[in-house]
Amino acid sequence: MCGIVGYVGYRKASPLLLKGLKNLEYRGYDSAGIATCHAQSCIEVRKGIGKVEEIEKKLNFESLDGDMGIAHTRWATHGAVTDRNAHPHTDSTGKIAIVHNGIIENYGELKEELIEKGHEFRSETDSEVIAHLIEENIAYGFEDACMSAFNRLKGSYAILAIKEGEDKIIGIRKDSPLVVGIAEHGTFFASDIPSFLEWTKNVMYLYNYDIVIAGKEGIRVYNEGLEVSRPIDTVEWDIEQAKKGEFGHFMMKEISEQAETVMKAIKQDRAVVSAIVEEMKNAFGIFFVGCGSSYHASLAGSYFFSKEVKMHVNPVLASEFENYEHFLTDKTLVFAVSQSGETADVLEAVRVAKGRGSRVIGITNVLGSSLTMEGDASLLMHSGPEICVLSTKTYTSQVVLMNLLAHALVNRYEEYMADVKSLYLGIYNLTSRTMREHLEELAKELVEEEHIYLIGRGLQYATALEAALKIKEVSYIHAEAFAGGELKHGPLALIEEGTPVIAFTARDNCNKILSNMHEVKARGGWIVGVSAKESDLFDYWVKVPEAGALNPIVQIIPIQILAYELAVLRGVDPDKPRNLAKSVTVT
Ligand code: GLU
Repeated sequence: MCGIVGYVGYRKASPLLLKGLKNLEYRGYDSAGIATCHAQSCIEVRKGIGKVEEIEKKLNFESLDGDMGIAHTRWATHGAVTDRNAHPHTDSTGKIAIVHNGIIENYGELKEELIEKGHEFRSETDSEVIAHLIEENIAYGFEDACMSAFNRLKGSYAILAIKEGEDKIIGIRKDSPLVVGIAEHGTFFASDIPSFLEWTKNVMYLYNYDIVIAGKEGIRVYNEGLEVSRPIDTVEWDIEQAKKGEFGHFMMKEISEQAETVMKAIKQDRAVVSAIVEEMKNAFGIFFVGCGSSYHASLAGSYFFSKEVKMHVNPVLASEFENYEHFLTDKTLVFAVSQSGETADVLEAVRVAKGRGSRVIGITNVLGSSLTMEGDASLLMHSGPEICVLSTKTYTSQVVLMNLLAHALVNRYEEYMADVKSLYLGIYNLTSRTMREHLEELAKELVEEEHIYLIGRGLQYATALEAALKIKEVSYIHAEAFAGGELKHGPLALIEEGTPVIAFTARDNCNKILSNMHEVKARGGWIVGVSAKESDLFDYWVKVPEAGALNPIVQIIPIQILAYELAVLRGVDPDKPRNLAKSVTVT
């Protein structure tokens, strides 16, 4: 979880590291710190709990000298949120400093062993053992000491290490994200590209167990003891895309980008799509695996495949996927869906699938992410950086991609492209000022509610689930979705005078959901209809175009806006909901 940043080069490191940390803030964190070092001088560490800005005010990070340094935002897994447990951590001598992102599973035994050898620990984190392990072998030189220390670690880690008197940063990644940015004036390390996008677009993606040694003279990469070469790519992302511009929050900016991002998602390499389609035709068992919004997109996908293709696909929560292991063979095809490509539960599912010889295709937004490295092939969403913790534009892009595969399978690729293109204006209007004001009014009606229920059938059930997730994660109002037909099997008991229920209706199942609304209305429920047609049953109508298979896109956008407005009215930061992080890199 959280993020790490490193810089070595010809500029003062601390301002770059500070900016890099701020650019990673969206990943979620509870503490932060920076360590810098000049080849001749000592390592200096400053760290504390809270937001980067607050810590910066107290500790004045930018006054740290040195042209090399490492930085960290922590999302605590081992040890409370305290100043001491914040990273960077140092060895007993204070001459080696490390930052670590992930979990060291065998830290208990390593710590015991190191304490017996006389090492003094200052934190309760799992990460501190890394600094002491390096110290243990330092007589063999910094590089060898790091390599043997890294060899002893079990778990997931992206680590950066520096040592007094050494003009280099040594980094490694295993199951936690780490990319290298090559600028004219120096080398950056970071958990995610937006961290250094301001200084360079040249990125080196790393494989698991890659060890990178970066100094002023250049970079070397090793894997399993051998020097390897990794290509340097130029990212198409723009720094402007990673800035808020005139928007108050990234969430609203990203919601508003959807007319564009949906169009970008359909621009796929036809050859790649055709190859995937062939694999789908020949597969024996197809799974779509994701968490949160990616799971909801997968569920929507399962309806497309059933309806458009008459093909059965299994949408499964990534964290539950191992329970289906027994169905996996070398003929199974697994689509692993993750915005960041770093979601630990999804990567775990990928490993389960690969362990059984199944083929894995990633659906992700981040080229060079673990998912694109570990999968057999990938479909990229091309949504640009998504900074807000909540998925908005990447959810709709996932829906587009699944729909695209379904249509390609029945040779309706061109028709589908035309359908999506014709929706451009419709999507654009959904994010217009008038629509936003209409939804702000609705937010005012709902802001004091403790519970909001959402109903839908078929594709609209997937939308209801996604809409409930948006509302609860950003506004902290309890929101729960039900398949319309399930109401009478229990949830109706929750409906009383004034209980708000958001209902999604579509042309193809209008009558059934109307009956469900009658059931709600008869018990005093207050109905918000999201539909193309008005109904007497609605107390509030959110008008959306009727878009058939593309309904999940046009129906979710107003609720993304509603969720945003609810958060703003409740004084909550929509970009950084409490307790949540963008890339969930722990299982
Ligand atoms: N496991 C480490 C800790 O609790 C690192 C957590 C992180 O990735 O932020 O300090």
